[in-house]
Order: sequence, then C-alpha cells, then structure tokens
Amino acid sequence: MIDLSQVEEELERELKRVRSLQELQQLKAKYLGKSGLITQAISNIRDLPPEERKSYGQKVNQIKNRAEELLKGKEEEIKRAELQRRLSEEWLDLSVPLQRAVGSLHPITQTLRRVKSIFLSMGFRVMEGPEVEREDYNFDLLNIPKEHPARDMQDTFYVNREGYLLRTHTSPVQIRTMLAHRPPIYMVAPGRVYRRDDDPTHSPMFHQVEGLVVDQELSFGHMKYTIEVFLREFFEADVPVRFRASYFPFTEPSAEVDIGCVICGGVGCKVCKQSGWLEVMGCGMVHPKVLENCGLDPESYQGFAFGMGVERLAMLYFRIDNIKLFFENDLRFLRQFL
Ligand SMILES: [Zn+2]
Repeated sequence: MIDLSQVEEELERELKRVRSLQELQQLKAKYLGKSGLITQAISNIRDLPPEERKSYGQKVNQIKNRAEELLKGKEEEIKRAELQRRLSEEWLDLSVPLQRAVGSLHPITQTLRRVKSIFLSMGFRVMEGPEVEREDYNFDLLNIPKEHPARDMQDTFYVNREGYLLRTHTSPVQIRTMLAHRPPIYMVAPGRVYRRDDDPTHSPMFHQVEGLVVDQELSFGHMKYTIEVFLREFFEADVPVRFRASYFPFTEPSAEVDIGCVICGGVGCKVCKQSGWLEVMGCGMVHPKVLENCGLDPESYQGFAFGMGVERLAMLYFRIDNIKLFFENDLRFLRQFL
C-alpha cells in the first residue's frame, strides 16, 4: 500500500523545484497520470477489506483534490511569471526621437524626374512602353535593316520567344505612339533599356529618355531650340551647345549633340578628354520611311527625335566617374544624394 501521509508532503516539496510548465507536466503525470501514485492508490481501494475502504477512500480523495489544487496553483504561478518576464523584456520606447531622415530618392530617379519635369513644362507628354519589346518595333519599323550590326546577338538580349527581345533603346515607344495617336505628337519616353555592354561607362541595363515631336512644318531649327532649352535647364547653366553631323537609321539628317564641358568649363580635362566638349545625346529629323511605316504621309508631316542616356546625364550632373555606383546600392554612396 502507498503511504498516503507521505504523498502530500512529497508533492509539495517537489513543486517548489518546478520552474517550467514542462516540469510541471512531468510532476502531474507522476501523481495523477495513468500509473501515477494517487491513481494507483485509488485503484488499490478495491483490494482493501470492506471496513477500511471508506476511510481510506475518503483520504485518497482528499489528497487527490489537494494535489489538483496545488498543481493548478503552480501552473498559474508559472504563467504569471512568464507574462511578467515578457512584459519587462518585450517593450518599445515610443518616446525615442527619430535619429535621421528615413530615405531618399536614388540619383537616377532624381535625374529622371528632373528630365520629365523640364519636358512637361515645355508641353510634352510622358509615354511608356514595354521592356520586352517586339523585334519589329525595336528595329524594322525604325528603318534598321536586318543585317544591321546592332541586331547582332552580341549586342542584343533576345528572349525565349520568336520575334521578341529586351528593347535596346526607348525608340520603339516612338513607333507605338505614332501607331496609336494622330499628330501633333509631343512626347518623351523614359525607361530602362538593355545591351550587352559592361565596362566603367557602360552597364548592360541603363536608362534612356527618348523624345519625339511630329507636327506640320517642323524644321531642324525647332529641334535645335528644343534641345538647347532642355540642356540649359538641366545643367542649370548657359552651357554652349553644338551639333555635329552623324548617322542613325531612323533619322535624316542626324546629329550628335555636345555641350561645353561642365567639369572644366571648356579648358580641357580628363572627363572631356581634353576636347572641352561632352557628347550628351543623339538627334535628327524623323526618317520619312519611319513616318510611312507608321501610316503618316511625309509630305504633310515632319518629325524630330532625340535620345539620351540618363546615367550619362546623372554622371555629368553629379560628377560621378563610374556608372556601376548607380547599381551597387552602397548606402555610403546613396546617402550623398539626400
Ligand atoms: Zn572638361
């Protein structure tokens, strides 16, 4: 037989050492579980002589109730202590003042916004197109022939679907706009473009802003004036601007645009390769074939277009010499553009 007088004392002593709910669970099993001490004592009752059963039974019941009470009390005590611990450890001091500004716009985003806002102030609309582009919008309709080296696998990222690629310039937005809207068109298209280029001044992904104007009685002079106004606004200076004859398949005549070096003021430095001039964009009068490809009569309409690299503009404006800095997202670099 189990000595009942010892059971209660033993339980109280053991409870004092319990520190966790898990330990408590083990103790509960030891006394009240299937083969627990008290459970056994209860099953022993039927083996006793009838005259002892009543008093023994009462005693066992008393101890069982007492044990349940003690265990329950301990459980609440542990839970209370756990809550106290969490309340003292897990808290936030809402009165701590904010240490600094939480973030800022990336220098490329800042540059894109400035470019857009200058053209918006001149009455242009902002248009967008997809980065995965149709090959004919990116090349054919822009009068870039099938054998043109730009279409080579070495320059263009082709995607796993016949007739599609990652656009190599924002010029297909010109095509999309002319196919969807009747002139007059005054638009700029900012966006990401992709080429297989990778060195300190070239990145395989970079940003361009394309500009297109289609209207009646437009001349090269309108284009020159538009570009000069933009560049002087952008560089916040009365920079000299010059146009050099060039060639692009989608414009005729075509030109490269240079500004007087903003680093050295035209005297000559490393950035301008001692020439005093910096190339900033390409431009030209929209090729009659491109207008025809988009269903416009070159006899009634003229257009001019220009395109520039946003990273190039940002590098000159912020005086940064490595294009990779824009894409590494090093906070020590980015924090300089707050
Ligand atoms: Zn210079």
